[in-house]
Amino acid sequence: MDARLEAIRDTVLARNPGEDEFHQAVTEVFESLGPVHDRHPEFLEGAVLERLCEPERQIIFRVPWADDSGRFQINRGFRVEFNSALGPYKGGLRFHPSVNLGIVKFLGFEQIFKNALTGMPIGGGKGGSDFDPRGRSDAEIMRFCQAFMTELYRHIGEYTDVPAGDIGVGGREIGYLFGQYKRITNRYESGVLTGKGISWGGSLVRPEATGFGTVIFAEEMLKTRGLSFDGQRVVVSGSGNVAINAIAKAQALGATVVACSDSSGYIVDEAGIDVGLLRQIKEVERGRLKDYEARRPNVTYVDGGSVWDVDATVALPCATQNELDGGAAARLVRNGLLAVGEGANMPSTRDAVAVFQDAGILFGPGKAANAGGVATSALEMQQNASRDSWSFAHTEGRLTEIMVGIHDRCAATADEYGDPGNYVLGANIGGFVKVADAMLAQGLI
Ligand code: GLU
Repeated sequence: MDARLEAIRDTVLARNPGEDEFHQAVTEVFESLGPVHDRHPEFLEGAVLERLCEPERQIIFRVPWADDSGRFQINRGFRVEFNSALGPYKGGLRFHPSVNLGIVKFLGFEQIFKNALTGMPIGGGKGGSDFDPRGRSDAEIMRFCQAFMTELYRHIGEYTDVPAGDIGVGGREIGYLFGQYKRITNRYESGVLTGKGISWGGSLVRPEATGFGTVIFAEEMLKTRGLSFDGQRVVVSGSGNVAINAIAKAQALGATVVACSDSSGYIVDEAGIDVGLLRQIKEVERGRLKDYEARRPNVTYVDGGSVWDVDATVALPCATQNELDGGAAARLVRNGLLAVGEGANMPSTRDAVAVFQDAGILFGPGKAANAGGVATSALEMQQNASRDSWSFAHTEGRLTEIMVGIHDRCAATADEYGDPGNYVLGANIGGFVKVADAMLAQGLI
C-alpha cells in the first residue's frame, strides 16, 4: 500500500477498534488508490480519505418489542449515514444476530462506492439490527419492524436517507416498515423506502435485480474471454433472494447450477437446481434447504461442510461476508474455475481474492457485481418521483444497461491505470473518483 495512504489507514483502524470487517473493507479499497493520489494530489490536500472513512452520522438505538408470549425483548438498531456527496444516503437494512456497528460500517462503506458506480444519484448508508428473524412468527416480525421504525422514522426521508432490504429484510418487512412510517408521519412518501410491493409503489424487477445483475456482470466478464454462461457449471452459495435469482438467470443463459447452500448445509443437484421448487421452499414455506432433498430425485444434501467443495467453472457467492476463504479459493481454482461474481457483500476473504487474481480468474467484486439491486432501487425512486410505473421489460432493460455500464467502466478504469482485467482496481478507483470529485466540489463538510 502507498505509504501516504497507509498512514491514513492506520489512523482509521486505531480510532475504530475491534471493527474487523470495516478494517478489511477500508484496507481493500486503500490498496487500490495509490495511483489515483499520484494523479490527484488535491484529494490528499482536501483530506478526502479521512473524511470518507468517518461516517457523516451514526445512529444507534434501542428497539423494544414484545414477543408472542408477552415477554419484553430488547434489540439494538443501527443506521450509519455514511456519505451524501452524490445523493441521499441509500442502502439496505440487515436483520441478523451477527449485526454490530463494525458490520454496518463495512456495509455502508462499500455502499458508497457501489452506489457511485451505478451512475445513479444516491449516497451511501446502511443499517439494521441484531434481531434474529429465524423462528419468529409473522406477528412478531411485524411488531419488531414497527418498533424499529418508531425510532428510525425521524432520521429518514425521500431526500435524506432511503433504506431498503438486505439479509433478513424482504418485501414483508419493508411493508411493515412502510406502514409504520406512514402512520407516524401521516405522509404517503413512496420514495422513503425501496423494495416496496408492486401495488403500493414498488418496482418490477427489484426483487430479481441483485441476482440478475450479478449474472449479467459475470456474463460481461466472460465475454472478454470469448466465453458465456452457456454450458457453464455453476455453484451458488446461499439460497435467499440474491442466490435464487442468480440461479434463475444463470440457467436462463444456458448454465447448469448444480449446488446452493443455507447456513445448515448444501444441496447438490447435478440435473440443475429446480428454481420453482427452491422458491416454494425458501420463499413460500420459509423452510430449510434440507427439505429440497426429499422432494426431488437424485439430490444429495450435505449437512454442514462447504458448498465450495463442489467444483464449478463459475462461482457466485451470494450468502454473506467472508464465506469463501483462501483454501476454498485454491480448491476451486485447481478444479477448473474460470470466473467469480460476488452477489453478496465482501463474501471472499482478502486471501481468496489474492488466490483468484494470481490465478488469472475473472473476479467481479461485490461492489460492482451486486450493484444491480441498489441500482434498481434507484429506478424505483425515479418511478416514485414521477408517480409512474414501468413495465418489466423496460425496467430489466435499464438494469442490463446499468450492469453493462458498470462492467465497462471498471474494465476501462483498470486499463487506464495499467492493470487490465483487474475489476477490483477498476471498481475501487471508478467509484472513489466520482465521490471524491463531488466532495471537493461541495467544500469542507
Ligand atoms: N442491500 C442491497 C445492497 O447491498 C440493496 C440496497 C438498496 O437497494 O438500497 O446493495
